[in-house]
Amino acid sequence: MKVLVINSGSSSLKADVLHTGDGTRVLSVLVERVGQPGAVAHVGGTSRSIDAPDHARALRAVLPALIQAGPLEAVGHRVVHGGESFTAPTLIEGDVLDALGGLVPLAPLHLPGNLAGIQASLEALPELPHVAVFDTAFHASLPRRARTYPLSHELRRGAGLRKYGFHGPSHHHVTRRAATYLQSDVRDLRIVSCHLGNGSSACAVELGRSVETTMGLTPLGGLVMGTRPGDLDPGVILHLLRHGYSPDAIDAQLHRHSGLAGLSGTSGDLRDILERSQQGDDPARLAIQVFTHRLTQAIASMAASMAGLDVLVFTAGIGQNSPIVRQRACAKLGFLGVRLDDDLNRDAKVSHAHDVAEISHRHSRVKVLVIATDESLAIARDAAKIASGHHKVSQPRTIPIAVSARHVHLTQEAVEILFGKGHTLTPRNPLSQPGQFACEETVDLLGPRRTIERVRVLGPTRRACQVEVARTDEFFLGIDAPVRASGDLDGTPGITLRGPRGKLELKQGVICAWRHIHMTPQDAEDFGVKDRDIVEVEVGGGPRRLIFGDVLVRVHNSFALEMHIDTDEANAAELDSGTPGELVRAEAGGSLRRRRVLYDTPVP
Ligand code: ADP
Repeated sequence: MKVLVINSGSSSLKADVLHTGDGTRVLSVLVERVGQPGAVAHVGGTSRSIDAPDHARALRAVLPALIQAGPLEAVGHRVVHGGESFTAPTLIEGDVLDALGGLVPLAPLHLPGNLAGIQASLEALPELPHVAVFDTAFHASLPRRARTYPLSHELRRGAGLRKYGFHGPSHHHVTRRAATYLQSDVRDLRIVSCHLGNGSSACAVELGRSVETTMGLTPLGGLVMGTRPGDLDPGVILHLLRHGYSPDAIDAQLHRHSGLAGLSGTSGDLRDILERSQQGDDPARLAIQVFTHRLTQAIASMAASMAGLDVLVFTAGIGQNSPIVRQRACAKLGFLGVRLDDDLNRDAKVSHAHDVAEISHRHSRVKVLVIATDESLAIARDAAKIASGHHKVSQPRTIPIAVSARHVHLTQEAVEILFGKGHTLTPRNPLSQPGQFACEETVDLLGPRRTIERVRVLGPTRRACQVEVARTDEFFLGIDAPVRASGDLDGTPGITLRGPRGKLELKQGVICAWRHIHMTPQDAEDFGVKDRDIVEVEVGGGPRRLIFGDVLVRVHNSFALEMHIDTDEANAAELDSGTPGELVRAEAGGSLRRRRVLYDTPVP
């Protein structure tokens, strides 16, 4: 699909026409000084002065060239902030534009420009689907512990202060590209992505999802940037306020006069700073030292939040072009298994055509890659998916939890022994998994110690009888049954079943069900997991909140999204059926993080 991607800043308008299939660029356009005298349009290889008092006029000036590069099928808009509501690429229709307008206070420097660009292109290209792609959306998967600021309830809930994260399309694009380059599944890698441009952020990507990042509520936090400071003691702001700085003056300091520019005393452009430092300029040297010191810290902290690191990626202007920054950032990361090859690092060159260079030493445990970011392509691909309507881009979702009381599955033969010849199970009510039902029939479980009466039979009949009880039931019955997945019955204890027409002595089949999540292949893609992965799920918001480890993922077309736990587990977390859970992360531990489950169970 040919997609027009528009990235409109406060005083610029960038546009690319791309083929989403092979990623080729048909045309790139940049209009500078929008809203100011002397605007210039760079279209392909040519530049000319234009009259661009606003974004609409700027777009109109370059529109013929963009249309000629078509036929265009969709427009993707980079939108810097999606707030709490926009956590996935969104078709711009109905009241979406109004809702985006309500987010301006979250990104007052960027959003007005983004919105002006959208408005202008909606007017110019009304027949095309327009899709907003958010910088923050990739980080919507941040777990609660990572996105929560340690502030009062009043500020967190009332004022909505939390970590959002930025540079989503870039982190998304380079981490996927790293995986394809390494011929791995992105879900099997723990990746730290360092987007180092005029704005910079690092991001921890585990299971293909952002689990930690350095930027926060706004793009001011985290790493040292061209003109922004990154993380500061919040007391610095109070100190300035109390010493006569107005909020606007602080704003100007933090957005325009800090970071590399503040440290070096002149430019925020790393190329100038490197040149001056080579001439012995001490402020320039200090700027590089502070920048790389904080970068090293951030990489280590991102790795720590994933309990390890498999791949380190450098991207954007500085990440792609500065061997010195990469070398200094990695110099102290040997303890994490990072070792650069000095020659490969020095010679690394990437472009859209040759977009990956490997710079790690052959004995480095961690692969270190330089990857050319392509935010426009990432935006174009998201826009194409939404526009074509084939696929909704994943929304982070919670998982409904169902509590399974003790129950029995029977073969048809067992049904006839217990309930009489020719008897078939009578459905009583359907269960959440399609085709499954609770039956009118119940049986008694006769254990060596005691009996549990009236245990519900679930239908339809199966190839083997299976009795699922909780640990408490086991103590009561006097049986020691293992934790097993459904169908995995070898070596499990037996039990006697009693029905109205007879008794059946099972040789095996009693299990304590392994907590598990049923999901469809689409759910699995959304959550970044595969069949038989082992994950953790956080449940319950109350005083007995629990993280269940060792949760088995079961993926099949016939499943409905739901996690099944037994009554003991639900009681431990004080849960009711239907409470949502949040998939937090795959099991961490050594290099084999995601254990494969080596048995074969029949999928109902
Ligand atoms: P933006 O965040 O505006 O997209 P870029 O990704 O273009 O920024 O990155 C701009 C930064 O990259 C600047 O600090 C610039 O100095 C730096 N940069 C570009 N080329 C080089 C280079 N060859 N060596 C060092 N730094 C470079």
